[in-house]
Amino acid sequence: MFDHDGYRGHEGVTWISDAATGLKAVIAVHSSALGPAMGGCRLWHYPSSSAALTDALRLSHGMSLKNAMAGLPLGGGKAVILGPVAPEARTALFEAFGVAVDGLGGRYVTAEDVGVSVADMAAAARRTRHVSGVTAAGGVGGDPSPYTARGVLRGIEAAAARVLGRGDLDGVRVAVQGVGHVGGALCRLLAGQGAQLVVADTDRARLDRICDETGAVPVALDEVLEADVDVVAPCALGGAITAEVAAGIRARVVAGAANNQLAEPAAGTVLRKRGIAYVPDYVINAGGIIAVGAEYLGGGNEASVMADVDAIGPRISDLLARADAEDTAPEILADRRAEEIIVAARAA
Ligand code: NAD
Repeated sequence: MFDHDGYRGHEGVTWISDAATGLKAVIAVHSSALGPAMGGCRLWHYPSSSAALTDALRLSHGMSLKNAMAGLPLGGGKAVILGPVAPEARTALFEAFGVAVDGLGGRYVTAEDVGVSVADMAAAARRTRHVSGVTAAGGVGGDPSPYTARGVLRGIEAAAARVLGRGDLDGVRVAVQGVGHVGGALCRLLAGQGAQLVVADTDRARLDRICDETGAVPVALDEVLEADVDVVAPCALGGAITAEVAAGIRARVVAGAANNQLAEPAAGTVLRKRGIAYVPDYVINAGGIIAVGAEYLGGGNEASVMADVDAIGPRISDLLARADAEDTAPEILADRRAEEIIVAARAA
């Protein structure tokens, strides 16, 4: 375990096993230098417990970077639950997960991620207060997806302005890979601004629904990233952009919600060499954590949360401008800045 190459100075990893409910989970706290380590809980069918650890380490490190770049007083953590979970066992299992989170005494704060619903988090919340994304009390928090989608929209607008010289998205062609909670909401926002959409999803019913609602045109799963469009928005799972895929992308901007979009650093290099602007995933998809962070920490209101989400736009403009000025990939600049913020907080 200690030789695992996913470790990035993680503060701790907790393995949870609850015989009564069948819960098996890994909670990774990467950093609590800036505040409680916050990050969602993912439910996934991992091929091995080692693969689950790899995911938890990678995602929790990413949350540290995301929260630091978003200017939040939150560290980075993540939980993964090893699926599958029988539907009838689900409520009890998430309550057991809540007990496990509570055992960490607030060092880790959980919320929704892929495979986990608001109802699941509501079950966890019966056993711990260190959970967010459950209520929208006073208009703040609840399901993070709409906030994530809004932040991605702001990021696409910023990138379109800088790279395409566009003042609005009317007629801008966008390919969205994955039209789930975030991708679907993003499609609605983009369509509302007059963007022309092409979309793909493994879930046919979901795809049809979004096409009906937004006028999007469906394309094959293996064509969406290489579609003839202005912007590609990966909003499915991570690792979609390999160096090979990057070599085939025709858009001038890659800006989407999925975490860990670049399967390998070489993919970012290929994009940069080809003059394609990559908007770092954890900078553009921070809207959800901004909202659930405000819900957990308290003190915010709908207007202040929206303003914080909208600030993703100017942050991305700055990042893309600096990337050009310093001739360095935006994802490398973002990592450097986030690490600086964390190191300074740790020293303080
Ligand atoms: P989701 O499960 O609701 O949606 C994902 C969609 O992608 C589903 O409709 C699924 O059928 C589809 N999909 C899966 N594999 C695909 C493939 N190969 N090609 C096309 N479609 C495929 O998840 P979500 O909450 O919308 O999150 C999407 C991404 O955004 C994830 O990577 C997640 O980590 C990231 N993210 C989500 C949030 C949030 O607020 N939900 C915040 C930050 C980042």
